[in-house]
Amino acid sequence: MFNLQCSMNKSDLIIIGSGPGGYRAAEYAAKNGLQVVIIESAQAGGTCLNCGCIPTKAFCHDAELAEIRQSFDFQQVVERKQQIVEQLRSGVESLMQQPGITFIHGHGHFLDANTVEVVSTVDEETVVQQFQAKNIIIATGSRTKILPIEGITGPNCVTSTELLDIQEVPKRLCIIGAGVIGMEFASVFASFGSEVTVVEYLKECLPALDSDIAKRLRKQLEKRGVKFYLGAGVKKVDGGTVAFERKGKEESVEADVILVATGRTPNIENLNLDRAGIESDRLGIKVNPDTFEVVQQASGECRVFAIGDVNGRQLLAHAATMQGIRVVNTILGRTDKIRLDIMPAAVFTNPEAASVGPTEDQLKDEGREFTCHKGYYRANGKALAIEATEGIAKLFTDSDDRIIGCHILGAHAADLVQEIAALMNRDTTLAELRDIVHIHPTLSEILQDIG
Ligand SMILES: Cc1cc2nc3c(=O)[nH]c(=O)nc-3n(C[C@H](O)[C@H](O)[C@H](O)COP(=O)(O)OP(=O)(O)OC[C@H]3O[C@@H](n4cnc5c(N)ncnc54)[C@H](O)[C@@H]3O)c2cc1C
Repeated sequence: MFNLQCSMNKSDLIIIGSGPGGYRAAEYAAKNGLQVVIIESAQAGGTCLNCGCIPTKAFCHDAELAEIRQSFDFQQVVERKQQIVEQLRSGVESLMQQPGITFIHGHGHFLDANTVEVVSTVDEETVVQQFQAKNIIIATGSRTKILPIEGITGPNCVTSTELLDIQEVPKRLCIIGAGVIGMEFASVFASFGSEVTVVEYLKECLPALDSDIAKRLRKQLEKRGVKFYLGAGVKKVDGGTVAFERKGKEESVEADVILVATGRTPNIENLNLDRAGIESDRLGIKVNPDTFEVVQQASGECRVFAIGDVNGRQLLAHAATMQGIRVVNTILGRTDKIRLDIMPAAVFTNPEAASVGPTEDQLKDEGREFTCHKGYYRANGKALAIEATEGIAKLFTDSDDRIIGCHILGAHAADLVQEIAALMNRDTTLAELRDIVHIHPTLSEILQDIG
């Protein structure tokens, strides 16, 4: 059955996608008096909550416990992860029932520059509705990028979403790609007892991280049994065989499960962007870097914005959220002080790594004057007490002693980097950081005592 609901629904803001970009923007906009329609084709909460940040971090925690206790029940791990996801999703679903928000379950696409059409299935009937608003936010996120490699979609190959739903720990896990997702799963499944092999095209893992920290992290994982093939270009996947070329030689790895973690691609195909004249490239929808308003050939009466993974700028949940807040502020005519140039990020491996600001290599390439200060976990009382002595903090200051970046490998690196991100938001100097009283004994003293 097919039903076109002809009435035109009008609101202040339409949001397509309910990930951390979309749902947080909806909540903030409604709190500030806007009438919001939010459209979601899958489950509320997006990638982050359903198959990204949250379920992976539940796995990370259980992996750490498995290392300590030397035992675990994978069925319980899977159930706990699912229970957390469902609890948080139901929280987002309740949020989306707040006054001012209309949540529509269906697939949204542009009909023209001012109109979004939504196709839903209600009681086995196809329902088509049309919506218009003064503002539209595209927050449709991203999915696994599948490279054109022969056999890469074969029966042994899985995406991160599928690996999160696996019911048994694979005996041999091969991970193609040593980015954040690949490295987190390598760390987790090594703790769960898989023989993990990582095949990476680049010469080092985690190219976005400070190269010194990335190398140290890889060495830590190698100590834990993870095998790395770097500078290795995968040529073909045949069943459980991953064939690659390294230093001119053909080699291969055998695995029961192959995780394809070769990056993300923006969800733009089914949006009919051309009908709205919206421009995109391989990274995603092109936007103004401050307002996130789209680059549009022929704009209509409404303003269109693109936030989060779909604009390909910073593939992080908190980046999506803060970009959404910026957009709503723009719609409300407010100027905010959000420093989107200070974007902390973390890799939740064991040990953890986190960073904010440019890497040492970037600072050198840009010819900037800077000083690198180093602190070591082994010299910190709390690190010794919790048996987490493997770790290093690198903090960069400019010629005025102002903190311009920090990169940490070690226990709770993300929490430590967050302190530095807060200080960078206030243009703090290293001398001022040293004057701030820190609780003793804490890992944060590594920062206060940094050399
Ligand atoms: C395995 C994994 C682990 C990760 N871990 C972290 C982490 O620890 N920390 C971190 O910061 N980031 C992490 N990320 C990245 C993070 O999940 C994303 O950056 C974040 O989810 C992006 O948010 P978003 O709102 O842009 O899009 P998404 O969260 O992808 O949400 C987009 C939503 O739009 C919906 N949608 C798409 N097209 C349409 C349409 N046409 N109509 C209606 N709805 C549509 C989708 O169904 C989806 O629900 C991880 C990602 C993965 C895959």
